[in-house]
Parts: sequence; structure tokens; C-alpha cells
Amino acid sequence: MVMGPTHAMSGAAIGLAMAATLPPEWGGPTSIAGAFVFAGVTAGAALLPDLDSPQATIARSFGPASQVLAHVTENAARAVYSATRTKRDSRKENGHRTATHTILFAVLAGLATGGLVAAFGMTASVGILFVMLGLALRGLFPRWAKKNGWLIVTGASAILAWGTWRLLPESASAIALGASVTVGVLAHLLGDVITKRGVPMLAPLVKISGKRWYDVRPPEILRIRASGPFDKLLLTACTVAVVVLTYLIVFDPARIGVAWA
Ligand SMILES: [Zn+2]
Repeated sequence: MVMGPTHAMSGAAIGLAMAATLPPEWGGPTSIAGAFVFAGVTAGAALLPDLDSPQATIARSFGPASQVLAHVTENAARAVYSATRTKRDSRKENGHRTATHTILFAVLAGLATGGLVAAFGMTASVGILFVMLGLALRGLFPRWAKKNGWLIVTGASAILAWGTWRLLPESASAIALGASVTVGVLAHLLGDVITKRGVPMLAPLVKISGKRWYDVRPPEILRIRASGPFDKLLLTACTVAVVVLTYLIVFDPARIGVAWA
């Protein structure tokens, strides 16, 4: 797998690109500040699939609570895998890179997010923003987060979540949050698919070569070794993309065909 910061940064880059292209009916933002909230949630959601791995960044993000959640997710993912695998899918001792690494999960996570906000309003909006933006801060600024400790990071996430709900209600809507969560999870899959083992992104709906959990991956030459030099290169490329997109979104939106309200 690629490292947490790379996933978060690729989520931010893809989130900014989507913020500039997604129409408002599909949850796309209508203001510059809204574009950054969208990308912030996407960056956080880009860490979600690795909740199936108790060793991952995300599982350590919120202390023991996220550790417990990671173990529950890992077991649930393995249960889904075991219940749906064919004879050709190998037996698995843990659930990493199974159920949460599928397009189906990306869609369901977005729908669940939208559903929670539609049902519980402000409480759900602020709660989801708090978790996603907190993850984004940890993923995008790992050194800052480590230096300041979890209290500061948690406080900053709470202020950002509350401020977004108060000042940018359209960015905290069911459709906007649902869309950005789905985009974030898809960004994670894209990051994992170019690494060695690939991901079963079409599982369990599409059967390939008799397998329901076929690992989709590119030709060997394009595969990237996790946390090797290519991972750093990918992180750098995503950071450059974030800087360029930030410039375009703020200073030259006409160039990318955007007219902020
Ligand atoms: Zn992953």
C-alpha cells in the first residue's frame, strides 16, 4: 500500500479537480471556500478504506476508539470476503484490501454519508466534517499533527467542522458530503491499484476469471512499491497538483472554465 500522506494528498488533488468540474446538482461546490471544504473531505475520505488495517495511519488517528473500529472493520471485511468468495478466490487470514477497497464501498460510503445528513441534519453534518477534516489534517500535515499532538488536531478539526456548517451550509449538505466521500474513497482505490498487489475494485459484483475478488492491477512496469522512492515521487506529484489547482481555483478560475458564484 502507499502511505497515508500520499493517499490524503492524492485525495486532495482529485478533490480539487472534481470541485472545479462537478456540477452543483451532483454536490459540486459553488464558491472558492466550498471547493476547499470539498477537497478537505475528499482528502480525509481517501484514508477511509485502510480502516481495515489496524496498523494504518487512520487506525491510529483517534487513539483506542479508532483501533477498536479498525479491528471491527477488518473482521467485517473478512466476513464479507468469505461469504462471497468463489472457489478460485484464495482463503484470507485478514480482511485488509477486501470489502473496503471496492467501487461498491465507495458508492455505499457516499450514500450512507448523505443518508445520515438527510436524517440527522446538523449533528450528522458537523460530525462527518469533524472526522473527515480531522483525518485530512493528520494525512496532509503529518509533521504538524505529530508536533502539536492530538488535542490541538482535534480542536482544529472541531473548529473547522463547526465553521463550515455555520458559514458554508451548502458545503455541509447531504449531497455535497456524500459526493466528496465517494470521490475520496475512489482516490484511495486509484492509489492502491498502482501498487504491487492491486485492489479487487469490482468485487463482489463482477466475476473475472472465475474470481469474485480479482485484484485489478496495471502491468508490472507501472506498479509502484509502497513507501519506496516512487511513493515519494507520487506524493510530490500530488502536492504539485494541489498547488497548481489551488492557484487556478483561487486566481485564475476562468482558465479552467469555472465561474464561482
Ligand atoms: Zn488501501
